[in-house]
Amino acid sequence: MKFRCAGLTPESIVDGPGYRFTVWTQGCPHNCEGCHNPQTHDPAGGFEADTEEVFRQIISDPLLDGVTLSGGDPFYQAKPMADLARKIHAYEGFKLNVIAYTGFTYEELIADANEENGFMELLRECDYIIDGRFELAQRSLELKFRGSPNQRFIDVKKSLDKGVPVVIDDETLSMM
Ligand code: SF4
Repeated sequence: MKFRCAGLTPESIVDGPGYRFTVWTQGCPHNCEGCHNPQTHDPAGGFEADTEEVFRQIISDPLLDGVTLSGGDPFYQAKPMADLARKIHAYEGFKLNVIAYTGFTYEELIADANEENGFMELLRECDYIIDGRFELAQRSLELKFRGSPNQRFIDVKKSLDKGVPVVIDDETLSMM
């Protein structure tokens, strides 16, 4: 499936726990002040990529612990990102978890999900999300994998089961 891509980082240790492959998606509607990736905002920017090709590249590295979808906002292209995450979870060669960063809150994704935007499709394929806009006034370098304390590292499977966001704290994240 085609999508707009801002870039690929095949080896990352800063976009979630462990050794990860990061997919930078193109297009973000949130316009957070102080955003580190303003070049990813324009939905027409970046380059066209294909989920099957990116998947092939990911599984060529058996040392990976997981894949991070970042951006941009991966939920802005939720259907192709769900397609990529589905391939990753279906792969039997080795296990990889999927994390997505999003400027939407978990509650907004649930409330606004519909057939067209594919929010639930992607949410169901994520193991974890880091949610919420980056708030420059609250910026902190102390937080694990997050830029401001309003952002939460959420266990999606548990959250969908319980019907409320289940947040993983920094101490637990340090051990993952
Ligand atoms: S959600 Fe992320 S990429 Fe989008 S404007 Fe905010 S910080 Fe930037």
